[in-house]
Order: sequence, then structure tokens, then C-alpha cells
Amino acid sequence: MARRGEFQLIAEAFAPLAKGDPLAFGLGDDVALVAPRPGEHLVATNDAMVRGVHFFRDGDPGDVGRKLLRVNLSDLACKGAEPLAYLLTVALPPDLTDGWLDAFAAGLGDDQKRYGIHLIGGDTTKSELDLVLSVTMLGSAPAETLLRRNGAKVGDRIYVSGTIGDARLGFLLARGKLPEASTEDAQFLRGRLDRPSPRLKLGRRLRGIANSAMDVSDGLLADLGHICEQSQVGAELSLAAVPFSDAARRVIHVHEEEQKSIITFGDDYEILFTAPPDKGSVIAAIGDELGVPLTVIGTIVSGGPVTVRDASGAVVPFAQAGYTHF
Ligand code: ADP
Ligand code: MG
Repeated sequence: MARRGEFQLIAEAFAPLAKGDPLAFGLGDDVALVAPRPGEHLVATNDAMVRGVHFFRDGDPGDVGRKLLRVNLSDLACKGAEPLAYLLTVALPPDLTDGWLDAFAAGLGDDQKRYGIHLIGGDTTKSELDLVLSVTMLGSAPAETLLRRNGAKVGDRIYVSGTIGDARLGFLLARGKLPEASTEDAQFLRGRLDRPSPRLKLGRRLRGIANSAMDVSDGLLADLGHICEQSQVGAELSLAAVPFSDAARRVIHVHEEEQKSIITFGDDYEILFTAPPDKGSVIAAIGDELGVPLTVIGTIVSGGPVTVRDASGAVVPFAQAGYTHF
């Protein structure tokens, strides 16, 4: 399929996204400059998305762009970092059209405005296989209060922001499952899959308050396992305490077998964090102020790794904790 040449693509689709950041040199040089805020460190993260693996082949290209930025922003958010700028690598298969790329770039442009960041560089290559998109997001944070996975302490309460499982249900809806869901619920759940909300304000407010934190991308259960492993502690998780949206509640009511798979699916992009009980009231105040539910779902214990219990206190067995690629 005929498509613009590499340099025309960069000039037309990507260079406009660098406007507004003078240190990006209009994507006209070999490098860009990035300065962390005074006294802080640069914080770096990368997430790639592959067509057919991370998004549907016929997915809206604008949403693909937005999600690519948001999954990266979520990594900065959960560390308490502020986003500064990003680099983009695209590997383009022959079937990909100029129209797709323009709509993808428009989605990036939307979210750049929303989150106050700019594209500052990247690489463009052809792919003999499928479409691969990769973003390196750079942010700024004071190193001393960076929220790490390894700080959970025995006795900490385990919190999660927002609601869990909406993306899983949105995925099933996209696959034509859950036909009894109302149109309104279906739209909400699809939106949570396609347009996650990185919790940037919350992460910043948790600096110096949370002992450990990470974002929920591989599944609540697996991600809690990562915190336990890094912190060398265990966790007791209460399945009944996991917060569901009203839409999810209505759908799970019909599909009870979904409750377990929901905490192993991922793509939630909420913040999972732990904090000592004496921080309870300040955390509740932060949740109220930001309008984000912050729910206690368990406790950090010694030993490990993660035990899940139902409302009666019985252990709920799990064959697999979360998503793994291989
Ligand atoms: P080089 O081959 O010298 O590394 P390129 O020709 O790949 O440089 O890129 C030229 C300029 O365009 C660089 O500033 C690079 O950062 C930018 N660029 C290339 N591809 C992208 C992209 N997908 N997104 C943003 N900037 C890009
Ligand atoms: Mg992450």
C-alpha cells in the first residue's frame, strides 16, 4: 500500500506534536533535551503496544494513541512523578494507512494537551510483521519520596484507587459477550478499557504517605504479588472488599464466575498502595478531595505471598495470578 515516505510522515504527523517544547528542536535534530525540575531526578518508563496483542486490529486509532500515552503515564503516576515529555517508536507494517497514522497522531495530540506533555523524538521503521508502538515517557520526581514497590511493611493496610474489573468486562463486551449489559453500562465499561485514567494527582499526594505503590496493569492479584515479593512480605486480600463500579456490579451479578477472573485480568491502571493504619484519615481526606474512591482491600502480613479470602474467611484458590506474555 502506498504511504508517505518516512520523513514526510515525521514532518506531517509527528513534528506538530513537538511544537510547544523548544527543547525538542521541532524533531529536526538527532536528540532532544529534557530537564527535570530543580532538585529532582528524571524518571523514565517505557511501554509498548502490539496490534492484536494489546489492542484490537479494528480498534479506533485515536484511542490507541491515547491508551499508549496513558499506560505510560500510569507508571509515572503510581511513583508520584510528574510527566514531562515522551519519545515514540513506531514499526509500521505494509497494510497501515496514512489515515490510520493521522488519526493515531490526533489521539496523541488530544492527550498531550490533557496531560501537558510533548513529543520530543523517537524512531520510525518499517515492520515485516505487525504494528508495534512504543513510548518512552519521561517525568520528574524527588528521589527521596519516590513511591517504590519495596516499602510495604507488616501491618500496612492495602488500598486500591477507583474500581477494579471494568476493563475486563469491557474486553468481554468487545468480544460480543455479556449481551444482557445495558447500552449505558457497556459504554462505560468499554471506555474504561479503551481510555484508562492515570491517577497522576493521587500519586503525587501519596508521596511521603504510602509505604509502597504500583499501578494495576497485570491484574490486581499478580501486582499485589509483585509488591509482596519486592517488600519481602505477604498479603491477606479480601475478595469481597475489592471495589467494583455500579456498571460492573450489575454485570457481575449475572456472571459470578467473573469475580475471580476480574482480579487476575489487569488493564485497570489504578494505583495499588500500602500505608500504615495511622495514615488512614489523611488518605480518606485525599480520596474525598480528589473525588477518587480509595478502598482498603487487605493487610500486609509476614510470610507470603498473597492469600485471597471470601466473605466467610475461606481461602479462594487461584490457578494463575495474572497476565503473562509467555
Ligand atoms: P537518526 O536516524 O539520526 O536517528 P531519524 O532520521 O530516525 O534520526 O529521526 C530524525 C528525527 O525525527 C529525530 O529527531 C527523531 O527523534 C525524530 N523521529 C523519528 N521518528 C519519530 C517518531 N516516531 N516520533 C517522534 N519523533 C521521531
Ligand atoms: Mg506499571
